[in-house]
Amino acid sequence: MNSPQYIAVESLGEALKIKQEQGAHARVIAGATDLILRMRDRVFSPKLLVDLRQVSLDTISCHAGEMRLGAYVTLSQILADDEITVLFPALVEACRQFAGPPIRNLATLGGNIVNASPAADLVPPLMAYDANIVLASSAGERVLALAEFFTGPGQTVMQADEILTQIRLPLMPPDSASWFIKLGQRRSMAISIINLSIRLTLGAKGAVSDARIVLGAAAPTPLRAVAAEALLIGKELSDQQVDQAAVEASRETSPITDVRASRNYRERMTQVLVRRALLASWDDLGRSGRNE
Ligand SMILES: Cc1cc2nc3c(=O)[nH]c(=O)nc-3n(C[C@H](O)[C@H](O)[C@H](O)COP(=O)(O)OP(=O)(O)OC[C@H]3O[C@@H](n4cnc5c(N)ncnc54)[C@H](O)[C@@H]3O)c2cc1C
Repeated sequence: MNSPQYIAVESLGEALKIKQEQGAHARVIAGATDLILRMRDRVFSPKLLVDLRQVSLDTISCHAGEMRLGAYVTLSQILADDEITVLFPALVEACRQFAGPPIRNLATLGGNIVNASPAADLVPPLMAYDANIVLASSAGERVLALAEFFTGPGQTVMQADEILTQIRLPLMPPDSASWFIKLGQRRSMAISIINLSIRLTLGAKGAVSDARIVLGAAAPTPLRAVAAEALLIGKELSDQQVDQAAVEASRETSPITDVRASRNYRERMTQVLVRRALLASWDDLGRSGRNE
């Protein structure tokens, strides 16, 4: 493998000019926890690595009803942020269950998204919170829903001259609850067999006014179980609704069999875990006296 050149740019404009000129030959390097492995395995052989660490893409701010996180924000930064802990608990839980502390110190939000693994742990909570992302190029910026970003394993709609700069999370409406569950072969340092995030919002009369059920490692891309969500919206939560939504979510998956688990196991565990997350969210929204 020929070693690529490395440049630590001092401005986003400089990085965008390089991307405009070199396209896919120049790759952004963030925490490098994925990139180095892919270069070793020759999935990527970039000529130039562009490091934006000096460009302040690691800021976190909250204004006008949304949280804005720079693409270089690390998992450890998220875990240390009191506001995110309160406002986006499912994202924080995903960070807690991600690898171990050394990787969490390096790995970035942007790297987890652009890597586009179907099993990426941060993507289901971000999609459950209706995240938007900002892609910059020398032609300007475009903002798109994270749900529209992924096209297949390792594949996205990002163009060769674009850089992911920011992730935007609208604040949850009142009477909302969210959960993240990860199933791996071990409790830590494990790639997800299935991961998922749920968000439920109740309306004035106590019925579900909005629902998100987002599944990871259950399809070629992170998947919104829209049919299962539709079973919940407009209804008052009941054990029967929860059970039906969990069955429907499992039906919407198309998982693979691999070294970690069989397709059948993934389908079954999707049902079990969606049910568990819905019940936990329901408890958070004030249900009491549940007998399981
Ligand atoms: C031991 C170990 C354990 C792991 N555990 C987990 C786990 O539990 N859960 C999980 O989801 N993942 C896990 N991973 C995978 C990895 O750590 C994550 O995907 C991480 O978030 C990647 O971020 P990074 O900053 O290291 O990205 P990098 O490796 O630097 O980059 C990843 C890809 O994204 C591109 N890229 C990065 N930033 C940008 C940007 N701003 N704009 C455009 N392109 C960009 C790079 O060019 C590269 O193609 C693990 C990896 C290792 C090595």
